[in-house]
Amino acid sequence: MATVGDEHGGYVAGRYRDGSLSDGWTDVERCAGGTFVRYVARCACGWTGRSHPASPAGVRAAKQEWFLGHVVALPLSEVAAR
Ligand SMILES: [Zn+2]
Repeated sequence: MATVGDEHGGYVAGRYRDGSLSDGWTDVERCAGGTFVRYVARCACGWTGRSHPASPAGVRAAKQEWFLGHVVALPLSEVAAR
């Protein structure tokens, strides 16, 4: 999805029916419909966003949340140092 510095690589994870989340190598938009019950924005630093509907709109919402709710909220010193 996008990368900010080394440790902030955002991606959209899918929540499987058993509650676990897919990893950063899984392209949730290429998985068969019904594979996931929710989409969740995650970041390589360990940040996890809220869950969104498992739909194209949910993917967009998760990506937007990663950027607007996480990246822009990072301390300026951390961004400036990179
Ligand atoms: Zn991050």
